[in-house]
Amino acid sequence: MNVSGVKSLLNKSSFTKSDLIYLLSLTGDAKTALFEKAAEVKEQYVGRKVYFRGLIELSNICRKNCLYCGIRSGNSKVSRYNLDDEEVVETAKFAWQSKYASLAIQTGELNSNDFIERINNLLDKINKATNNELGITLSLGEQTEETYQEWFDKGAIRYLLRIESSNKDLYHKIHPNNLLHDYDTRLNCLKSLQRIGYQVGSGVMIGLPFQTLEHLAEDLLWMQEFDIDMVGMGPYVEHPDTPLFEYSNTLLPLQERLDLSLKMYALLRILMKDINIAAPTALQAIDPLGREKAIKVGANVIMPNITPGIYRNNYKLYENKPCVDDAADDCKSCLEARIQLTGDEIGFGEQGNSKHYYKKIR
Ligand code: SAH
Ligand code: SF4
Repeated sequence: MNVSGVKSLLNKSSFTKSDLIYLLSLTGDAKTALFEKAAEVKEQYVGRKVYFRGLIELSNICRKNCLYCGIRSGNSKVSRYNLDDEEVVETAKFAWQSKYASLAIQTGELNSNDFIERINNLLDKINKATNNELGITLSLGEQTEETYQEWFDKGAIRYLLRIESSNKDLYHKIHPNNLLHDYDTRLNCLKSLQRIGYQVGSGVMIGLPFQTLEHLAEDLLWMQEFDIDMVGMGPYVEHPDTPLFEYSNTLLPLQERLDLSLKMYALLRILMKDINIAAPTALQAIDPLGREKAIKVGANVIMPNITPGIYRNNYKLYENKPCVDDAADDCKSCLEARIQLTGDEIGFGEQGNSKHYYKKIR
């Protein structure tokens, strides 16, 4: 197909799996046409604005053992930490005073009563310290519907739980084979979150071992079918102390994983025009300008890491994690300059909630 053929394909109102496989394999001018179309759709439907979610990595203690993740419970090389409440509240205040307007709290997965209660208390403390003005995203793994409801009632408004891969077979290849790592459980969690009324985010890793373009095309269609409000997806970056590292020699080179991720953002923007698309930090582990490239092809959310610096080095899900030595302020000014370069504006003081979500509930 020539470039004008690709342009007319991109104007279709719905896409088949084979359309998407074809579009994911574009190169040269045809790929540029895809990126241009995504930028146009972004401008038209969500505007040229980037919203911040200050990211707090609460703890790297995890009960799970995902085969790709550097902080899996089986990795005895990790020194485990848990921020104390005061540190979290101070960090949340920093986000609020910096006009980030939104916060994302992420951890390894725990589900004890103490943990659930701790999050309840933390949400109270954060809201009190920030005048209830922060839009709070949680990314705390799989929980019961009751727990999700409690946290929602305490004021969390968004939840991010990646499906990792929408293909059940691939999901089971990258997770231990036991009930703690079950595809249907994860899917049911996502359904609970939707029922409760969260803005629900999901997503996948791109460039996993055993993953094909067909899987990625299915992932895009799954996200559309599930009707997610926001997405967090990005390149898989191998970690040496994980079982999947064994397959490193079967992977696409990192630059190609980045390129494929950019095509995924662009296609998802075209498929789901008004959702929020995050440019994850993993992009920056590959290319110092990775996140800025994502913003140019459809992403509109960035999650600056505001975890106190002394802990950051221990929250390594993957290798080459950037900014692990920076203080949070450095991240702020460096990000501002970087986003200006993309030509977009930062939505300081705006929560930047998912337009898609509000359209659904109207
Ligand atoms: N424990 C929670 C949240 C923290 S992990 C959860 O699993 O949902 C957040 C995300 O990090 C995961 O969803 C996964 O997609 C991503 N991740 C883990 N290891 C990774 C790796 N090696 N490369 C890229 N992303 C990874
Ligand atoms: Fe734990 Fe999340 Fe890492 Fe899995 S991906 S091991 S649940 S932190």
